[in-house]
Amino acid sequence: MKVFISTFGTESNTFATYPTSLTNFRRSRWYENGIDNTASGPWAGPAKLWHAQATQRGWTICESLHTFTEPSGTVSRAAYEEIRDRILADLRECAPVDAVLLFLHGAMVADGYDDCEGDLATRVRQIVGPTTKIGIELDLHAHMDHVLLDASDLIVIYKAYPHIDYNDRAQELFDLMERTLSGDIQPKMSIFDCRSMGLFPTTPEGPMKEFVADMMSAEGKNGILSLSLNHGFPWADVPLAGAKMLAIADGDSSIADAAAEEFGKYFYLIRKEAALKFTSMDKAMEIAQAPRDKPVLMADVSDQSGAGAPGDTNHLVRAYLDANISNAVFGPIWDPAAVDICFQLGVGSLSCLRIGGKFEPHSGPPLDIDAEIVFLKRDAFQESDQKEKMSIGDIAIIKSAGVEIVLSSIRTNVYTPSFFLDHGITLEDKTVIGVKNLYKHTDIFAPLVSEQLYVATPGLCQPDFDKLDFKRLPRPIWPFEDDPLGLET
Ligand SMILES: [Zn+2]
Repeated sequence: MKVFISTFGTESNTFATYPTSLTNFRRSRWYENGIDNTASGPWAGPAKLWHAQATQRGWTICESLHTFTEPSGTVSRAAYEEIRDRILADLRECAPVDAVLLFLHGAMVADGYDDCEGDLATRVRQIVGPTTKIGIELDLHAHMDHVLLDASDLIVIYKAYPHIDYNDRAQELFDLMERTLSGDIQPKMSIFDCRSMGLFPTTPEGPMKEFVADMMSAEGKNGILSLSLNHGFPWADVPLAGAKMLAIADGDSSIADAAAEEFGKYFYLIRKEAALKFTSMDKAMEIAQAPRDKPVLMADVSDQSGAGAPGDTNHLVRAYLDANISNAVFGPIWDPAAVDICFQLGVGSLSCLRIGGKFEPHSGPPLDIDAEIVFLKRDAFQESDQKEKMSIGDIAIIKSAGVEIVLSSIRTNVYTPSFFLDHGITLEDKTVIGVKNLYKHTDIFAPLVSEQLYVATPGLCQPDFDKLDFKRLPRPIWPFEDDPLGLET
C-alpha cells in the first residue's frame, strides 16, 4: 500500500480585521521534513499516528507539508493557494497512491474561498482519480457540505469538546481506511443539516455527554461504521456554516441517510439545553464579590485567540479594579510593546503603563494603570491539557491595586494552571482568576475553584450572535430562528 499524508489547518474568524498570512503559518507550525521528526501536540498528533500505523504495516509513505496556525482572520488568497498548490504538487509527484490521509481543521476560509477544505479535497480527487481512497479528519468546529463529502470517502470528526480525542479519531479514521482498502467495507457518507449554531461542550454531565456516548454505542452496529457531529464554528459568516450530522454506513447509502437524520434530529432537540451558558459582566462582578472558600474562575470568552480574537482587551481587568476586587489574577493580555517596556524597566520598577486595547477595532480602549513589574520571563511555556509544552512567548507580570496581570508577547490562551503557577503566581488565595479562553480550560481548573463563569465580555468572539453583522449565514438557523426544523411545535 502507498499512502499520502498531509496536514493543513486553521480556524478563520471572518469578523477579524487582520488576515492570516503565509508568515502566520510559517511562524506557527510548519513541518517540511516529515511529521515523525516533530514534537507531539494536537496539530501533529493525527499525522504522527497515521505515519506510525502505516510504518508498522510496511506501507510506503509519501508526506507533504504539515502546517497549522493560530486562528485569526480570513486567510490571504496567496497564502492559501501557495500552501494548497505545494501539497497538490507533492501529491502529483507521489501518485499513484492507494490512499490519501489529510488532517484539516475544517473552518478555513480564504479570500475567494468560503470552503478551503472542499476546494482542496476536490483538487486532490482530480489528481488521484476515482479509485484512490481519501480520508479526512476534522475539528468539530468545522464547516462542511456536499462538496467535501463528494470529494472524499471517509470523514471522521472529533467527538469531544474540549478536543481531547484527536488521536482516538485519527486511529478510527486509519482503521476505517485500512478496512476500506482491503475491501472489507464500502463506506457511504451522508449529512443532515441541523440548522443550528452555538457552542456545545461534551464533558459536563448532561445531554451532550449522553449524545456522544449514544453515537459511540451505535457505531459498529446495524451497518453504521461511524457517526460524527460537526458542531460548526460560529464566528464565520459563510453559507455552509452551522451544525451538521455526519454518518458513514457500510455499502448502503440509505442507512447513512437514516442515521444522519436520526442523530441530527436528536442533537437538534437537545441543542438549547446543551449550549454553553454565558454570564453578563455585571452578574459576574456580583458573583465575584460574594464570600466563597475558593476562587471564582471567569473566562473572558469574547477575546480568546483560540477562536481568532486578538487577545488584547482588558474589560475584565477594568471591572476588577472598578469593583475594588484587590486579590485577583488575569491573563494573558497580548501586548508585545508593553512587555518590551517591562523588560527595559526590570522587576521591581513602578511605572504608569498603557496595556491592551491596541490591535484592532474589537480591542476596546487601552487601560492606563500604575503598576509594579513583579516577574519577567523570556520564552515562557505553559503545559497543555495533554502535558505538552506550549510556548507563551515573553511574559511580564505586573501588579496594580492587588490585581496581577500577565502580559504576553504572543497571542495565546490559558490552557492549564501552569500558565500562572510556573511563573510565581499563586491561585488558591485569589478571589477571582480571570483567563482568556472559552471552554477548554474548564475541566483542568475545576478542582481549584468554587465556580466557573463564561463571561459575555465585549469582543470579537461575542456569544451574543445578534451583536455581530452576519450577512451570509444559511437561514433559517437557530438561535436566529427559534425552531428552524419545525420539530418543537
Ligand atoms: Zn475546535
